[in-house]
Amino acid sequence: MPGDKNMLLKLLLGTGCTLIVFMIYSCKITSSYASYENVYQSDNFIVYYDDEIFSEKEVIRFTVKKERMLTIITSTLEENISEKIVTNLINGCCGGYTRSSTGEIYEYPDYVPYDKGHEIVHAVVHKTLDRSLFGFFREGMAEALEVHPDQSNAIERFFKSYASTIDNLYFDKQKSSEYQSIYDEIVKYEFDYSYFSYMRAGAFVQYLINEVGTDTFKTFYNQTATYRSQDEFNTIFSDAFGKSLETMENEFIRKYSLY
Ligand SMILES: [Zn+2]
Repeated sequence: MPGDKNMLLKLLLGTGCTLIVFMIYSCKITSSYASYENVYQSDNFIVYYDDEIFSEKEVIRFTVKKERMLTIITSTLEENISEKIVTNLINGCCGGYTRSSTGEIYEYPDYVPYDKGHEIVHAVVHKTLDRSLFGFFREGMAEALEVHPDQSNAIERFFKSYASTIDNLYFDKQKSSEYQSIYDEIVKYEFDYSYFSYMRAGAFVQYLINEVGTDTFKTFYNQTATYRSQDEFNTIFSDAFGKSLETMENEFIRKYSLY
């Protein structure tokens, strides 16, 4: 019957269209993983995202929060950025990172809703300061300038978590092993990128900033961007902070360990 034929035709065409649409859709998904074709721009951020992971509404909400954190971070660091921060919301796990060659941020879905601006600090530092050769200072800076909802600072966070006694500062109960001193982590370039090391570096950097002010700390930070022998490093440190690193470490521990 003609009617049935038409129906069949429609059905076939319909299926065909669905197939074509599906193919285009598939291509779109594939390419959006590769190039993050969805983009949202705010005053200071260009955010590339995959709309299979976050809706535009969510991305706008996250970016508003990023702008707020950026304002606090740049004012703490006393720096302005002249170009936008490129942020890629990528699929996978876990956390986030900032590429040292480009200063672009990459954030996995587990990180984004709990973002405290750690990667934003890296990106701002990338745009405004020289790249420190020391993992301790790079991560310490990011931890110290993070923006926590409870407005806690890195010193409070570290000592409340780890350091009710001085022993806890040098002995990891879970691993049953000794922590390195701050001195060794810095001078011997032995920062171990553990959670403990991140938090301790953040607290110590905050302490150094409190002691000498942001400007002097930034000058010192820039000086750590070129290779220094241990002796040279010790001289630069003492010039900036007025005391040796070992003395500062001892004073830092004594001052806060019974927080
Ligand atoms: Zn980091």
